[in-house]
Amino acid sequence: MPSRPPAAGIVSFEEARHIVEQHAGRISPGEAETAELLSASGRVLAEPILADRDFPPFPRATRDGYALRAQDVAEVPARLELIGEIKAGDWPAGSRNVKQGQAVAIMTGAPLPPGADAVVMVEYTAQTGISVEIKRSVKSGENFVPRGAEAREGQLLLDRGNRLDHAGIAIAASVGKSKLQVFRRPRIAVLSTGDEIVEIEKIPGPSQIRNSNTYSLSAQIRRAGGEPVRLPIAPDEPSRLRSLIEEGLESDLLLLTGGVSMGKYDLVEQVLAELKAEFYFTGAQIQPGRPIVFGRCGQWRTGVSAPHHTYFFGLPGNPVSTMVTFELFVRPMIQALTGGKPQPLIFLKARLKSEVRTKTGLKRFLPAVLCGEFENAEVELARWQGSGDIAARAGANCYLVIPPDREQISAGEWVSLLLP
Ligand code: AMP
Ligand code: MG
Repeated sequence: MPSRPPAAGIVSFEEARHIVEQHAGRISPGEAETAELLSASGRVLAEPILADRDFPPFPRATRDGYALRAQDVAEVPARLELIGEIKAGDWPAGSRNVKQGQAVAIMTGAPLPPGADAVVMVEYTAQTGISVEIKRSVKSGENFVPRGAEAREGQLLLDRGNRLDHAGIAIAASVGKSKLQVFRRPRIAVLSTGDEIVEIEKIPGPSQIRNSNTYSLSAQIRRAGGEPVRLPIAPDEPSRLRSLIEEGLESDLLLLTGGVSMGKYDLVEQVLAELKAEFYFTGAQIQPGRPIVFGRCGQWRTGVSAPHHTYFFGLPGNPVSTMVTFELFVRPMIQALTGGKPQPLIFLKARLKSEVRTKTGLKRFLPAVLCGEFENAEVELARWQGSGDIAARAGANCYLVIPPDREQISAGEWVSLLLP
């Protein structure tokens, strides 16, 4: 058996994250394809969305009330002649032009008639027959949005590279786009390794474990905008592992799980080194997830003059470690491959519900339960048996972040947490 590859280095959590972000920043997205508006939700725009007309297309009343000239109600109460009504969808005809001493009843969403420069809310008025009493003054420009104030025709509303959430879908809908150009979903290969791992359809033997990692990763990949490519389980045996790694490198990114610890049969790094992979780090000072590996491997393809490079992550096999390291490091690579900007990792703050004691030296991301109501967020560690405890993770809803220099945190302290 060849000797272990030289370690590229064990780095801090922050260094590891920065290394991944730098590489993610160099990735160019795949080709664009056409998607129906609703199926484009969650995908990344490959075309800019421009305003097809002014937004709003007319000066739009934002209140129910009376359109009038602000100078006519500088002194209140004031009585104005009522000359008509404009509801949403009406177009103000010439007869409804507002002259001195006049008002038009107007509804939210209706076009402001010419001559008027403000709307007084109906709450501050009293209508009697053909006149209306105004009890409160308004400034010119109040309670309507001028034509084109949100965007001018031809102006950029949402640029390519933005991931479409429901607001992005609303923008596309509002300019009449029923189809959109989005980037192709990147194909992310998932290769679980381990002699003890069996496919989930099989009844496991007494020492065997069902392959849950391929499925948790596939779900995480889908949520991040990628298309999982599930490979068969690789045994802890170099030649079959090697051929499955080579198959995985055909995808846009390869995720391996298991086989990256220091055990005699942890062969992933060794096989990747034989394939002349570059390693950017071979461990991070975190728990769970310490043995994580990140690198890139070139492959020669027939008929192509330069090698094709594919990034890979070797994630630790313990199921919770696999899940955490995906959130911490894999997600930005997938975001970049989908054509989007890698998003920074954002920690939230909550008060610790009960004291935490731990060892110093590693930054910890421990399954925890976030609860409380409104602004009173409280967080508590989930009770768990370590990074193999999927049930504890499934009952949790966040990760409590413990800095490497803290061995005790008291109840009531503000702590950081990460939402998966
Ligand atoms: P390893 O990282 O290969 O040393 O594996 C660490 C632990 O994770 C072992 O207890 C494995 O049985 C378990 N494990 C590894 N791969 C998987 C997988 N695909 N699904 C579920 N558990 C796994
Ligand atoms: Mg293993």
